Amino acid sequence: PLFNAGRGAVFTAAGRNELDSAIMNGADRTAGAVAGLTTTRHPIAAARAVMEKSPHVMLIGEGADAFAASVGLEQVDPTFFFTERRWQGLVRALEQQGQPVPDRPEGAPSPQASADLPAPPLNERKFGTVGAVALDSQGRLAAGTSTGGMTAKRWGRVGDVPVIGAGTYASNADGCAVSATGSGEYFIRATVARDICRRTADGATVQAAAQAEIDEVGSIGGHGGVIVLGGDGTVAFSLDTPGMERRRPARRRPVPRRHLRRRAVIPPRPISDRSDYSDYSDPLFSDDASMTLAPDDELTVMAQEELDAACAMPFVELRKITPWGDSYEGFAPSGRTVEVERRYLWGVEPEGG
Ligand code: ASP
Repeated sequence: PLFNAGRGAVFTAAGRNELDSAIMNGADRTAGAVAGLTTTRHPIAAARAVMEKSPHVMLIGEGADAFAASVGLEQVDPTFFFTERRWQGLVRALEQQGQPVPDRPEGAPSPQASADLPAPPLNERKFGTVGAVALDSQGRLAAGTSTGGMTAKRWGRVGDVPVIGAGTYASNADGCAVSATGSGEYFIRATVARDICRRTADGATVQAAAQAEIDEVGSIGGHGGVIVLGGDGTVAFSLDTPGMERRRPARRRPVPRRHLRRRAVIPPRPISDRSDYSDYSDPLFSDDASMTLAPDDELTVMAQEELDAACAMPFVELRKITPWGDSYEGFAPSGRTVEVERRYLWGVEPEGG
């Protein structure tokens, strides 16, 4: 589990994983969202089920899990979502905040048993929320986002991701699909995803619309980024960052034409401090490296679900932008294995360090 979504999600202050997700089909503006899931293995699949199999748009908590179970989605013990890396991230965050550290969840693997603990804490930031925007060959747009939210969140806190129009939105009428990451409270208040689509409908380019909205978020104190896909297939990214570093790759792997029919983009996750990473060398992320996502990583499933929701083609192009801006792209055959490759570098400063 690499990302802050599904297995691998961050922990609440109480030591739980509460998962949020949303999906929207721009062609008919149907949408589904779930918040605070604790037992549904793939939250994005639950969001899609809400969209397609319920008369509702948003379900929360136990009821949402019960609905997901009722439509046959796999249920797991909450400790399924436990990862040592995220647990250590919670412990660090609570200690920094002077908050009590909860007991290790019952049933969680012992620290020694954990094979997924990477050396430095950076991965907590590096692998954030996942999202995808997609366009199929018939011009249908869709957007999906999935997250564990913010480390050490409390009181049933829900961020922007499952709020349609805040962290997730797609509308063919506007010619725009958006998935966001960042300080969710601000993205909700700025109605980011909806506003980007509105700006696009009013004639702005997707890049200008994205930038204007990220500026808007910044003006009220928030930070983060969006990925946006226009009806013509134009992809835009915008991340706020003082002194954002940005680099295009020297080499681009040629994209077979058939793969261009669908495009999914995984949005950025903000970070607070690049210095964390300075000593870290991870062979996965050297310029020439590629990595393989597990078939059931929430990111992989999400991209597939979201694209399935819009269309039924066999390939998906994925792009993951990491907190500091590296991006990984690849093609997911319906077998759901995604080869990803470094493409871009960005830097971004998040909220409050
Ligand atoms: N936007 C998410 C939230 O506020 C967190 C993130 O994307 O990093 O829950």
